Amino acid sequence: MKIVVAVKQVAVLGDEVEFTEDDRDVDPDYLDFALNEWDSYATEEALRLVEAAGSGEVVVISVGDEDAEDSMRRCLAMGADRGIRVESVRTLDPIQVARALAEVVRSESPDLVFAGVQSSDSVQAATGGALAGLLDMPLVAVVTKIEL
Ligand code: AMP
Repeated sequence: MKIVVAVKQVAVLGDEVEFTEDDRDVDPDYLDFALNEWDSYATEEALRLVEAAGSGEVVVISVGDEDAEDSMRRCLAMGADRGIRVESVRTLDPIQVARALAEVVRSESPDLVFAGVQSSDSVQAATGGALAGLLDMPLVAVVTKIEL
């Protein structure tokens, strides 16, 4: 069984916060970055399923800049087999992210694709659904348990 998991490196507010000069965003110097909590659950579940199936692989994919590789390495340390990053240096909306993810998913032809229920920094809860739509794959949203 091959499972692709979409993982995002999210911005996390530190103890101190300053805003950019136009007051429209948080000054990036005051942000920490981490693997999105829900994506770590998705990765863990994918690893568990592949183990139960007896063979296969878990591939994590991320759209982001080089820093996003920190979160991908965390997934590799959890047991994921491979990571693929799609270069993006600017913030994209969920449809743009889904388009980039869809290209990779098509080339990987997995049995299952996992996404977290939402990303903790942008909270769109839209990327997984958009990805399923673009790939014309059935979607199950807000999954809390999976059994083979
Ligand atoms: P969102 O629609 O931003 O709330 O994110 C929902 C889920 O889509 C996340 O939990 C990830 O699984 C996936 N996702 C969102 N942004 C990205 C990204 N830049 N790279 C990879 N996966 C992403």
